[in-house]
Amino acid sequence: MPQRKGEVAINHRYCKRCNICPQFCPTNNLEIVKGKLVAYDRCIACFNCERYCPDMAIEVVKIYNVETPATG
Ligand code: SF4
Ligand code: SF4
Repeated sequence: MPQRKGEVAINHRYCKRCNICPQFCPTNNLEIVKGKLVAYDRCIACFNCERYCPDMAIEVVKIYNVETPATG
């Protein structure tokens, strides 16, 4: 499982649940469940969903240093 690198914010007012973004997500982080788009914790911040959403309904914020093990 890749480390989580992005925080996904879905604007449910704009999202028309077209199912485009889940098809472009390389980590299967997006899914339409019971008629609503949900994001899990597998985002690698590739920004595909943002890029391909026709309604600008999804936004990704890159996370730095998440769960980075302490070094030496
Ligand atoms: S930024 Fe990439 S990995 Fe993250 S939810 Fe969007 S498509 Fe998936
Ligand atoms: S591409 Fe945009 S409108 Fe379509 S399901 Fe994803 S967030 Fe919603």
